[in-house]
Amino acid sequence: MNERGGTVVCPGSYDPVTKGHVDIITRAATNFDRVVVGVVNNPVRKAKTLFTAEERAGFITECMGHLENIEVKVFSTLLVEFAKANGAGAVLKGLRAISDFEYEFEMAQLNRKLDPEIESLYMIASPDYSFLSSTGVKEMATFGADVSDLVPAPVAAALAERLSGR
Ligand code: ADP
Repeated sequence: MNERGGTVVCPGSYDPVTKGHVDIITRAATNFDRVVVGVVNNPVRKAKTLFTAEERAGFITECMGHLENIEVKVFSTLLVEFAKANGAGAVLKGLRAISDFEYEFEMAQLNRKLDPEIESLYMIASPDYSFLSSTGVKEMATFGADVSDLVPAPVAAALAERLSGR
């Protein structure tokens, strides 16, 4: 009972990290010995990120550094290679809706083909954040909406600064 499951990788572009991500990473940290948050350097699905990989990783470290078993790293390789290089047996992602499921289903099958030893695990988003995405937050912030309930405070400040005057 209460045994935790080794090392897990929580990957994403985190552009920027939201309270939904924080929730998943925190829950991962209570269920695994070690959580490596992998910040994708150049996400394929996003033409250009608002924040650099170092900035995106920096926000997560700033907001989650108090949890001892979390490490934040930027990576530019295949996810399964990153997991293996970090001694992780599994990749853990958050699932919000059916639309997430379709994409994740495909990615899980591809990753299994690339490396059957790396397991893909999913946690259901908490109801408080199941509507929350980095894209939505950026759109809101662009039009001056208050996003302080949705993202950690340093991220809200950085969004206001980066997007003001757009
Ligand atoms: P991606 O670059 O794959 O789109 P994101 O950086 O947006 O990923 O998110 C990283 C991970 O966190 C993904 O597994 C995503 O499904 C999950 N996630 C994003 N937002 C939330 C949320 N509000 N609640 C739970 N999980 C989330």
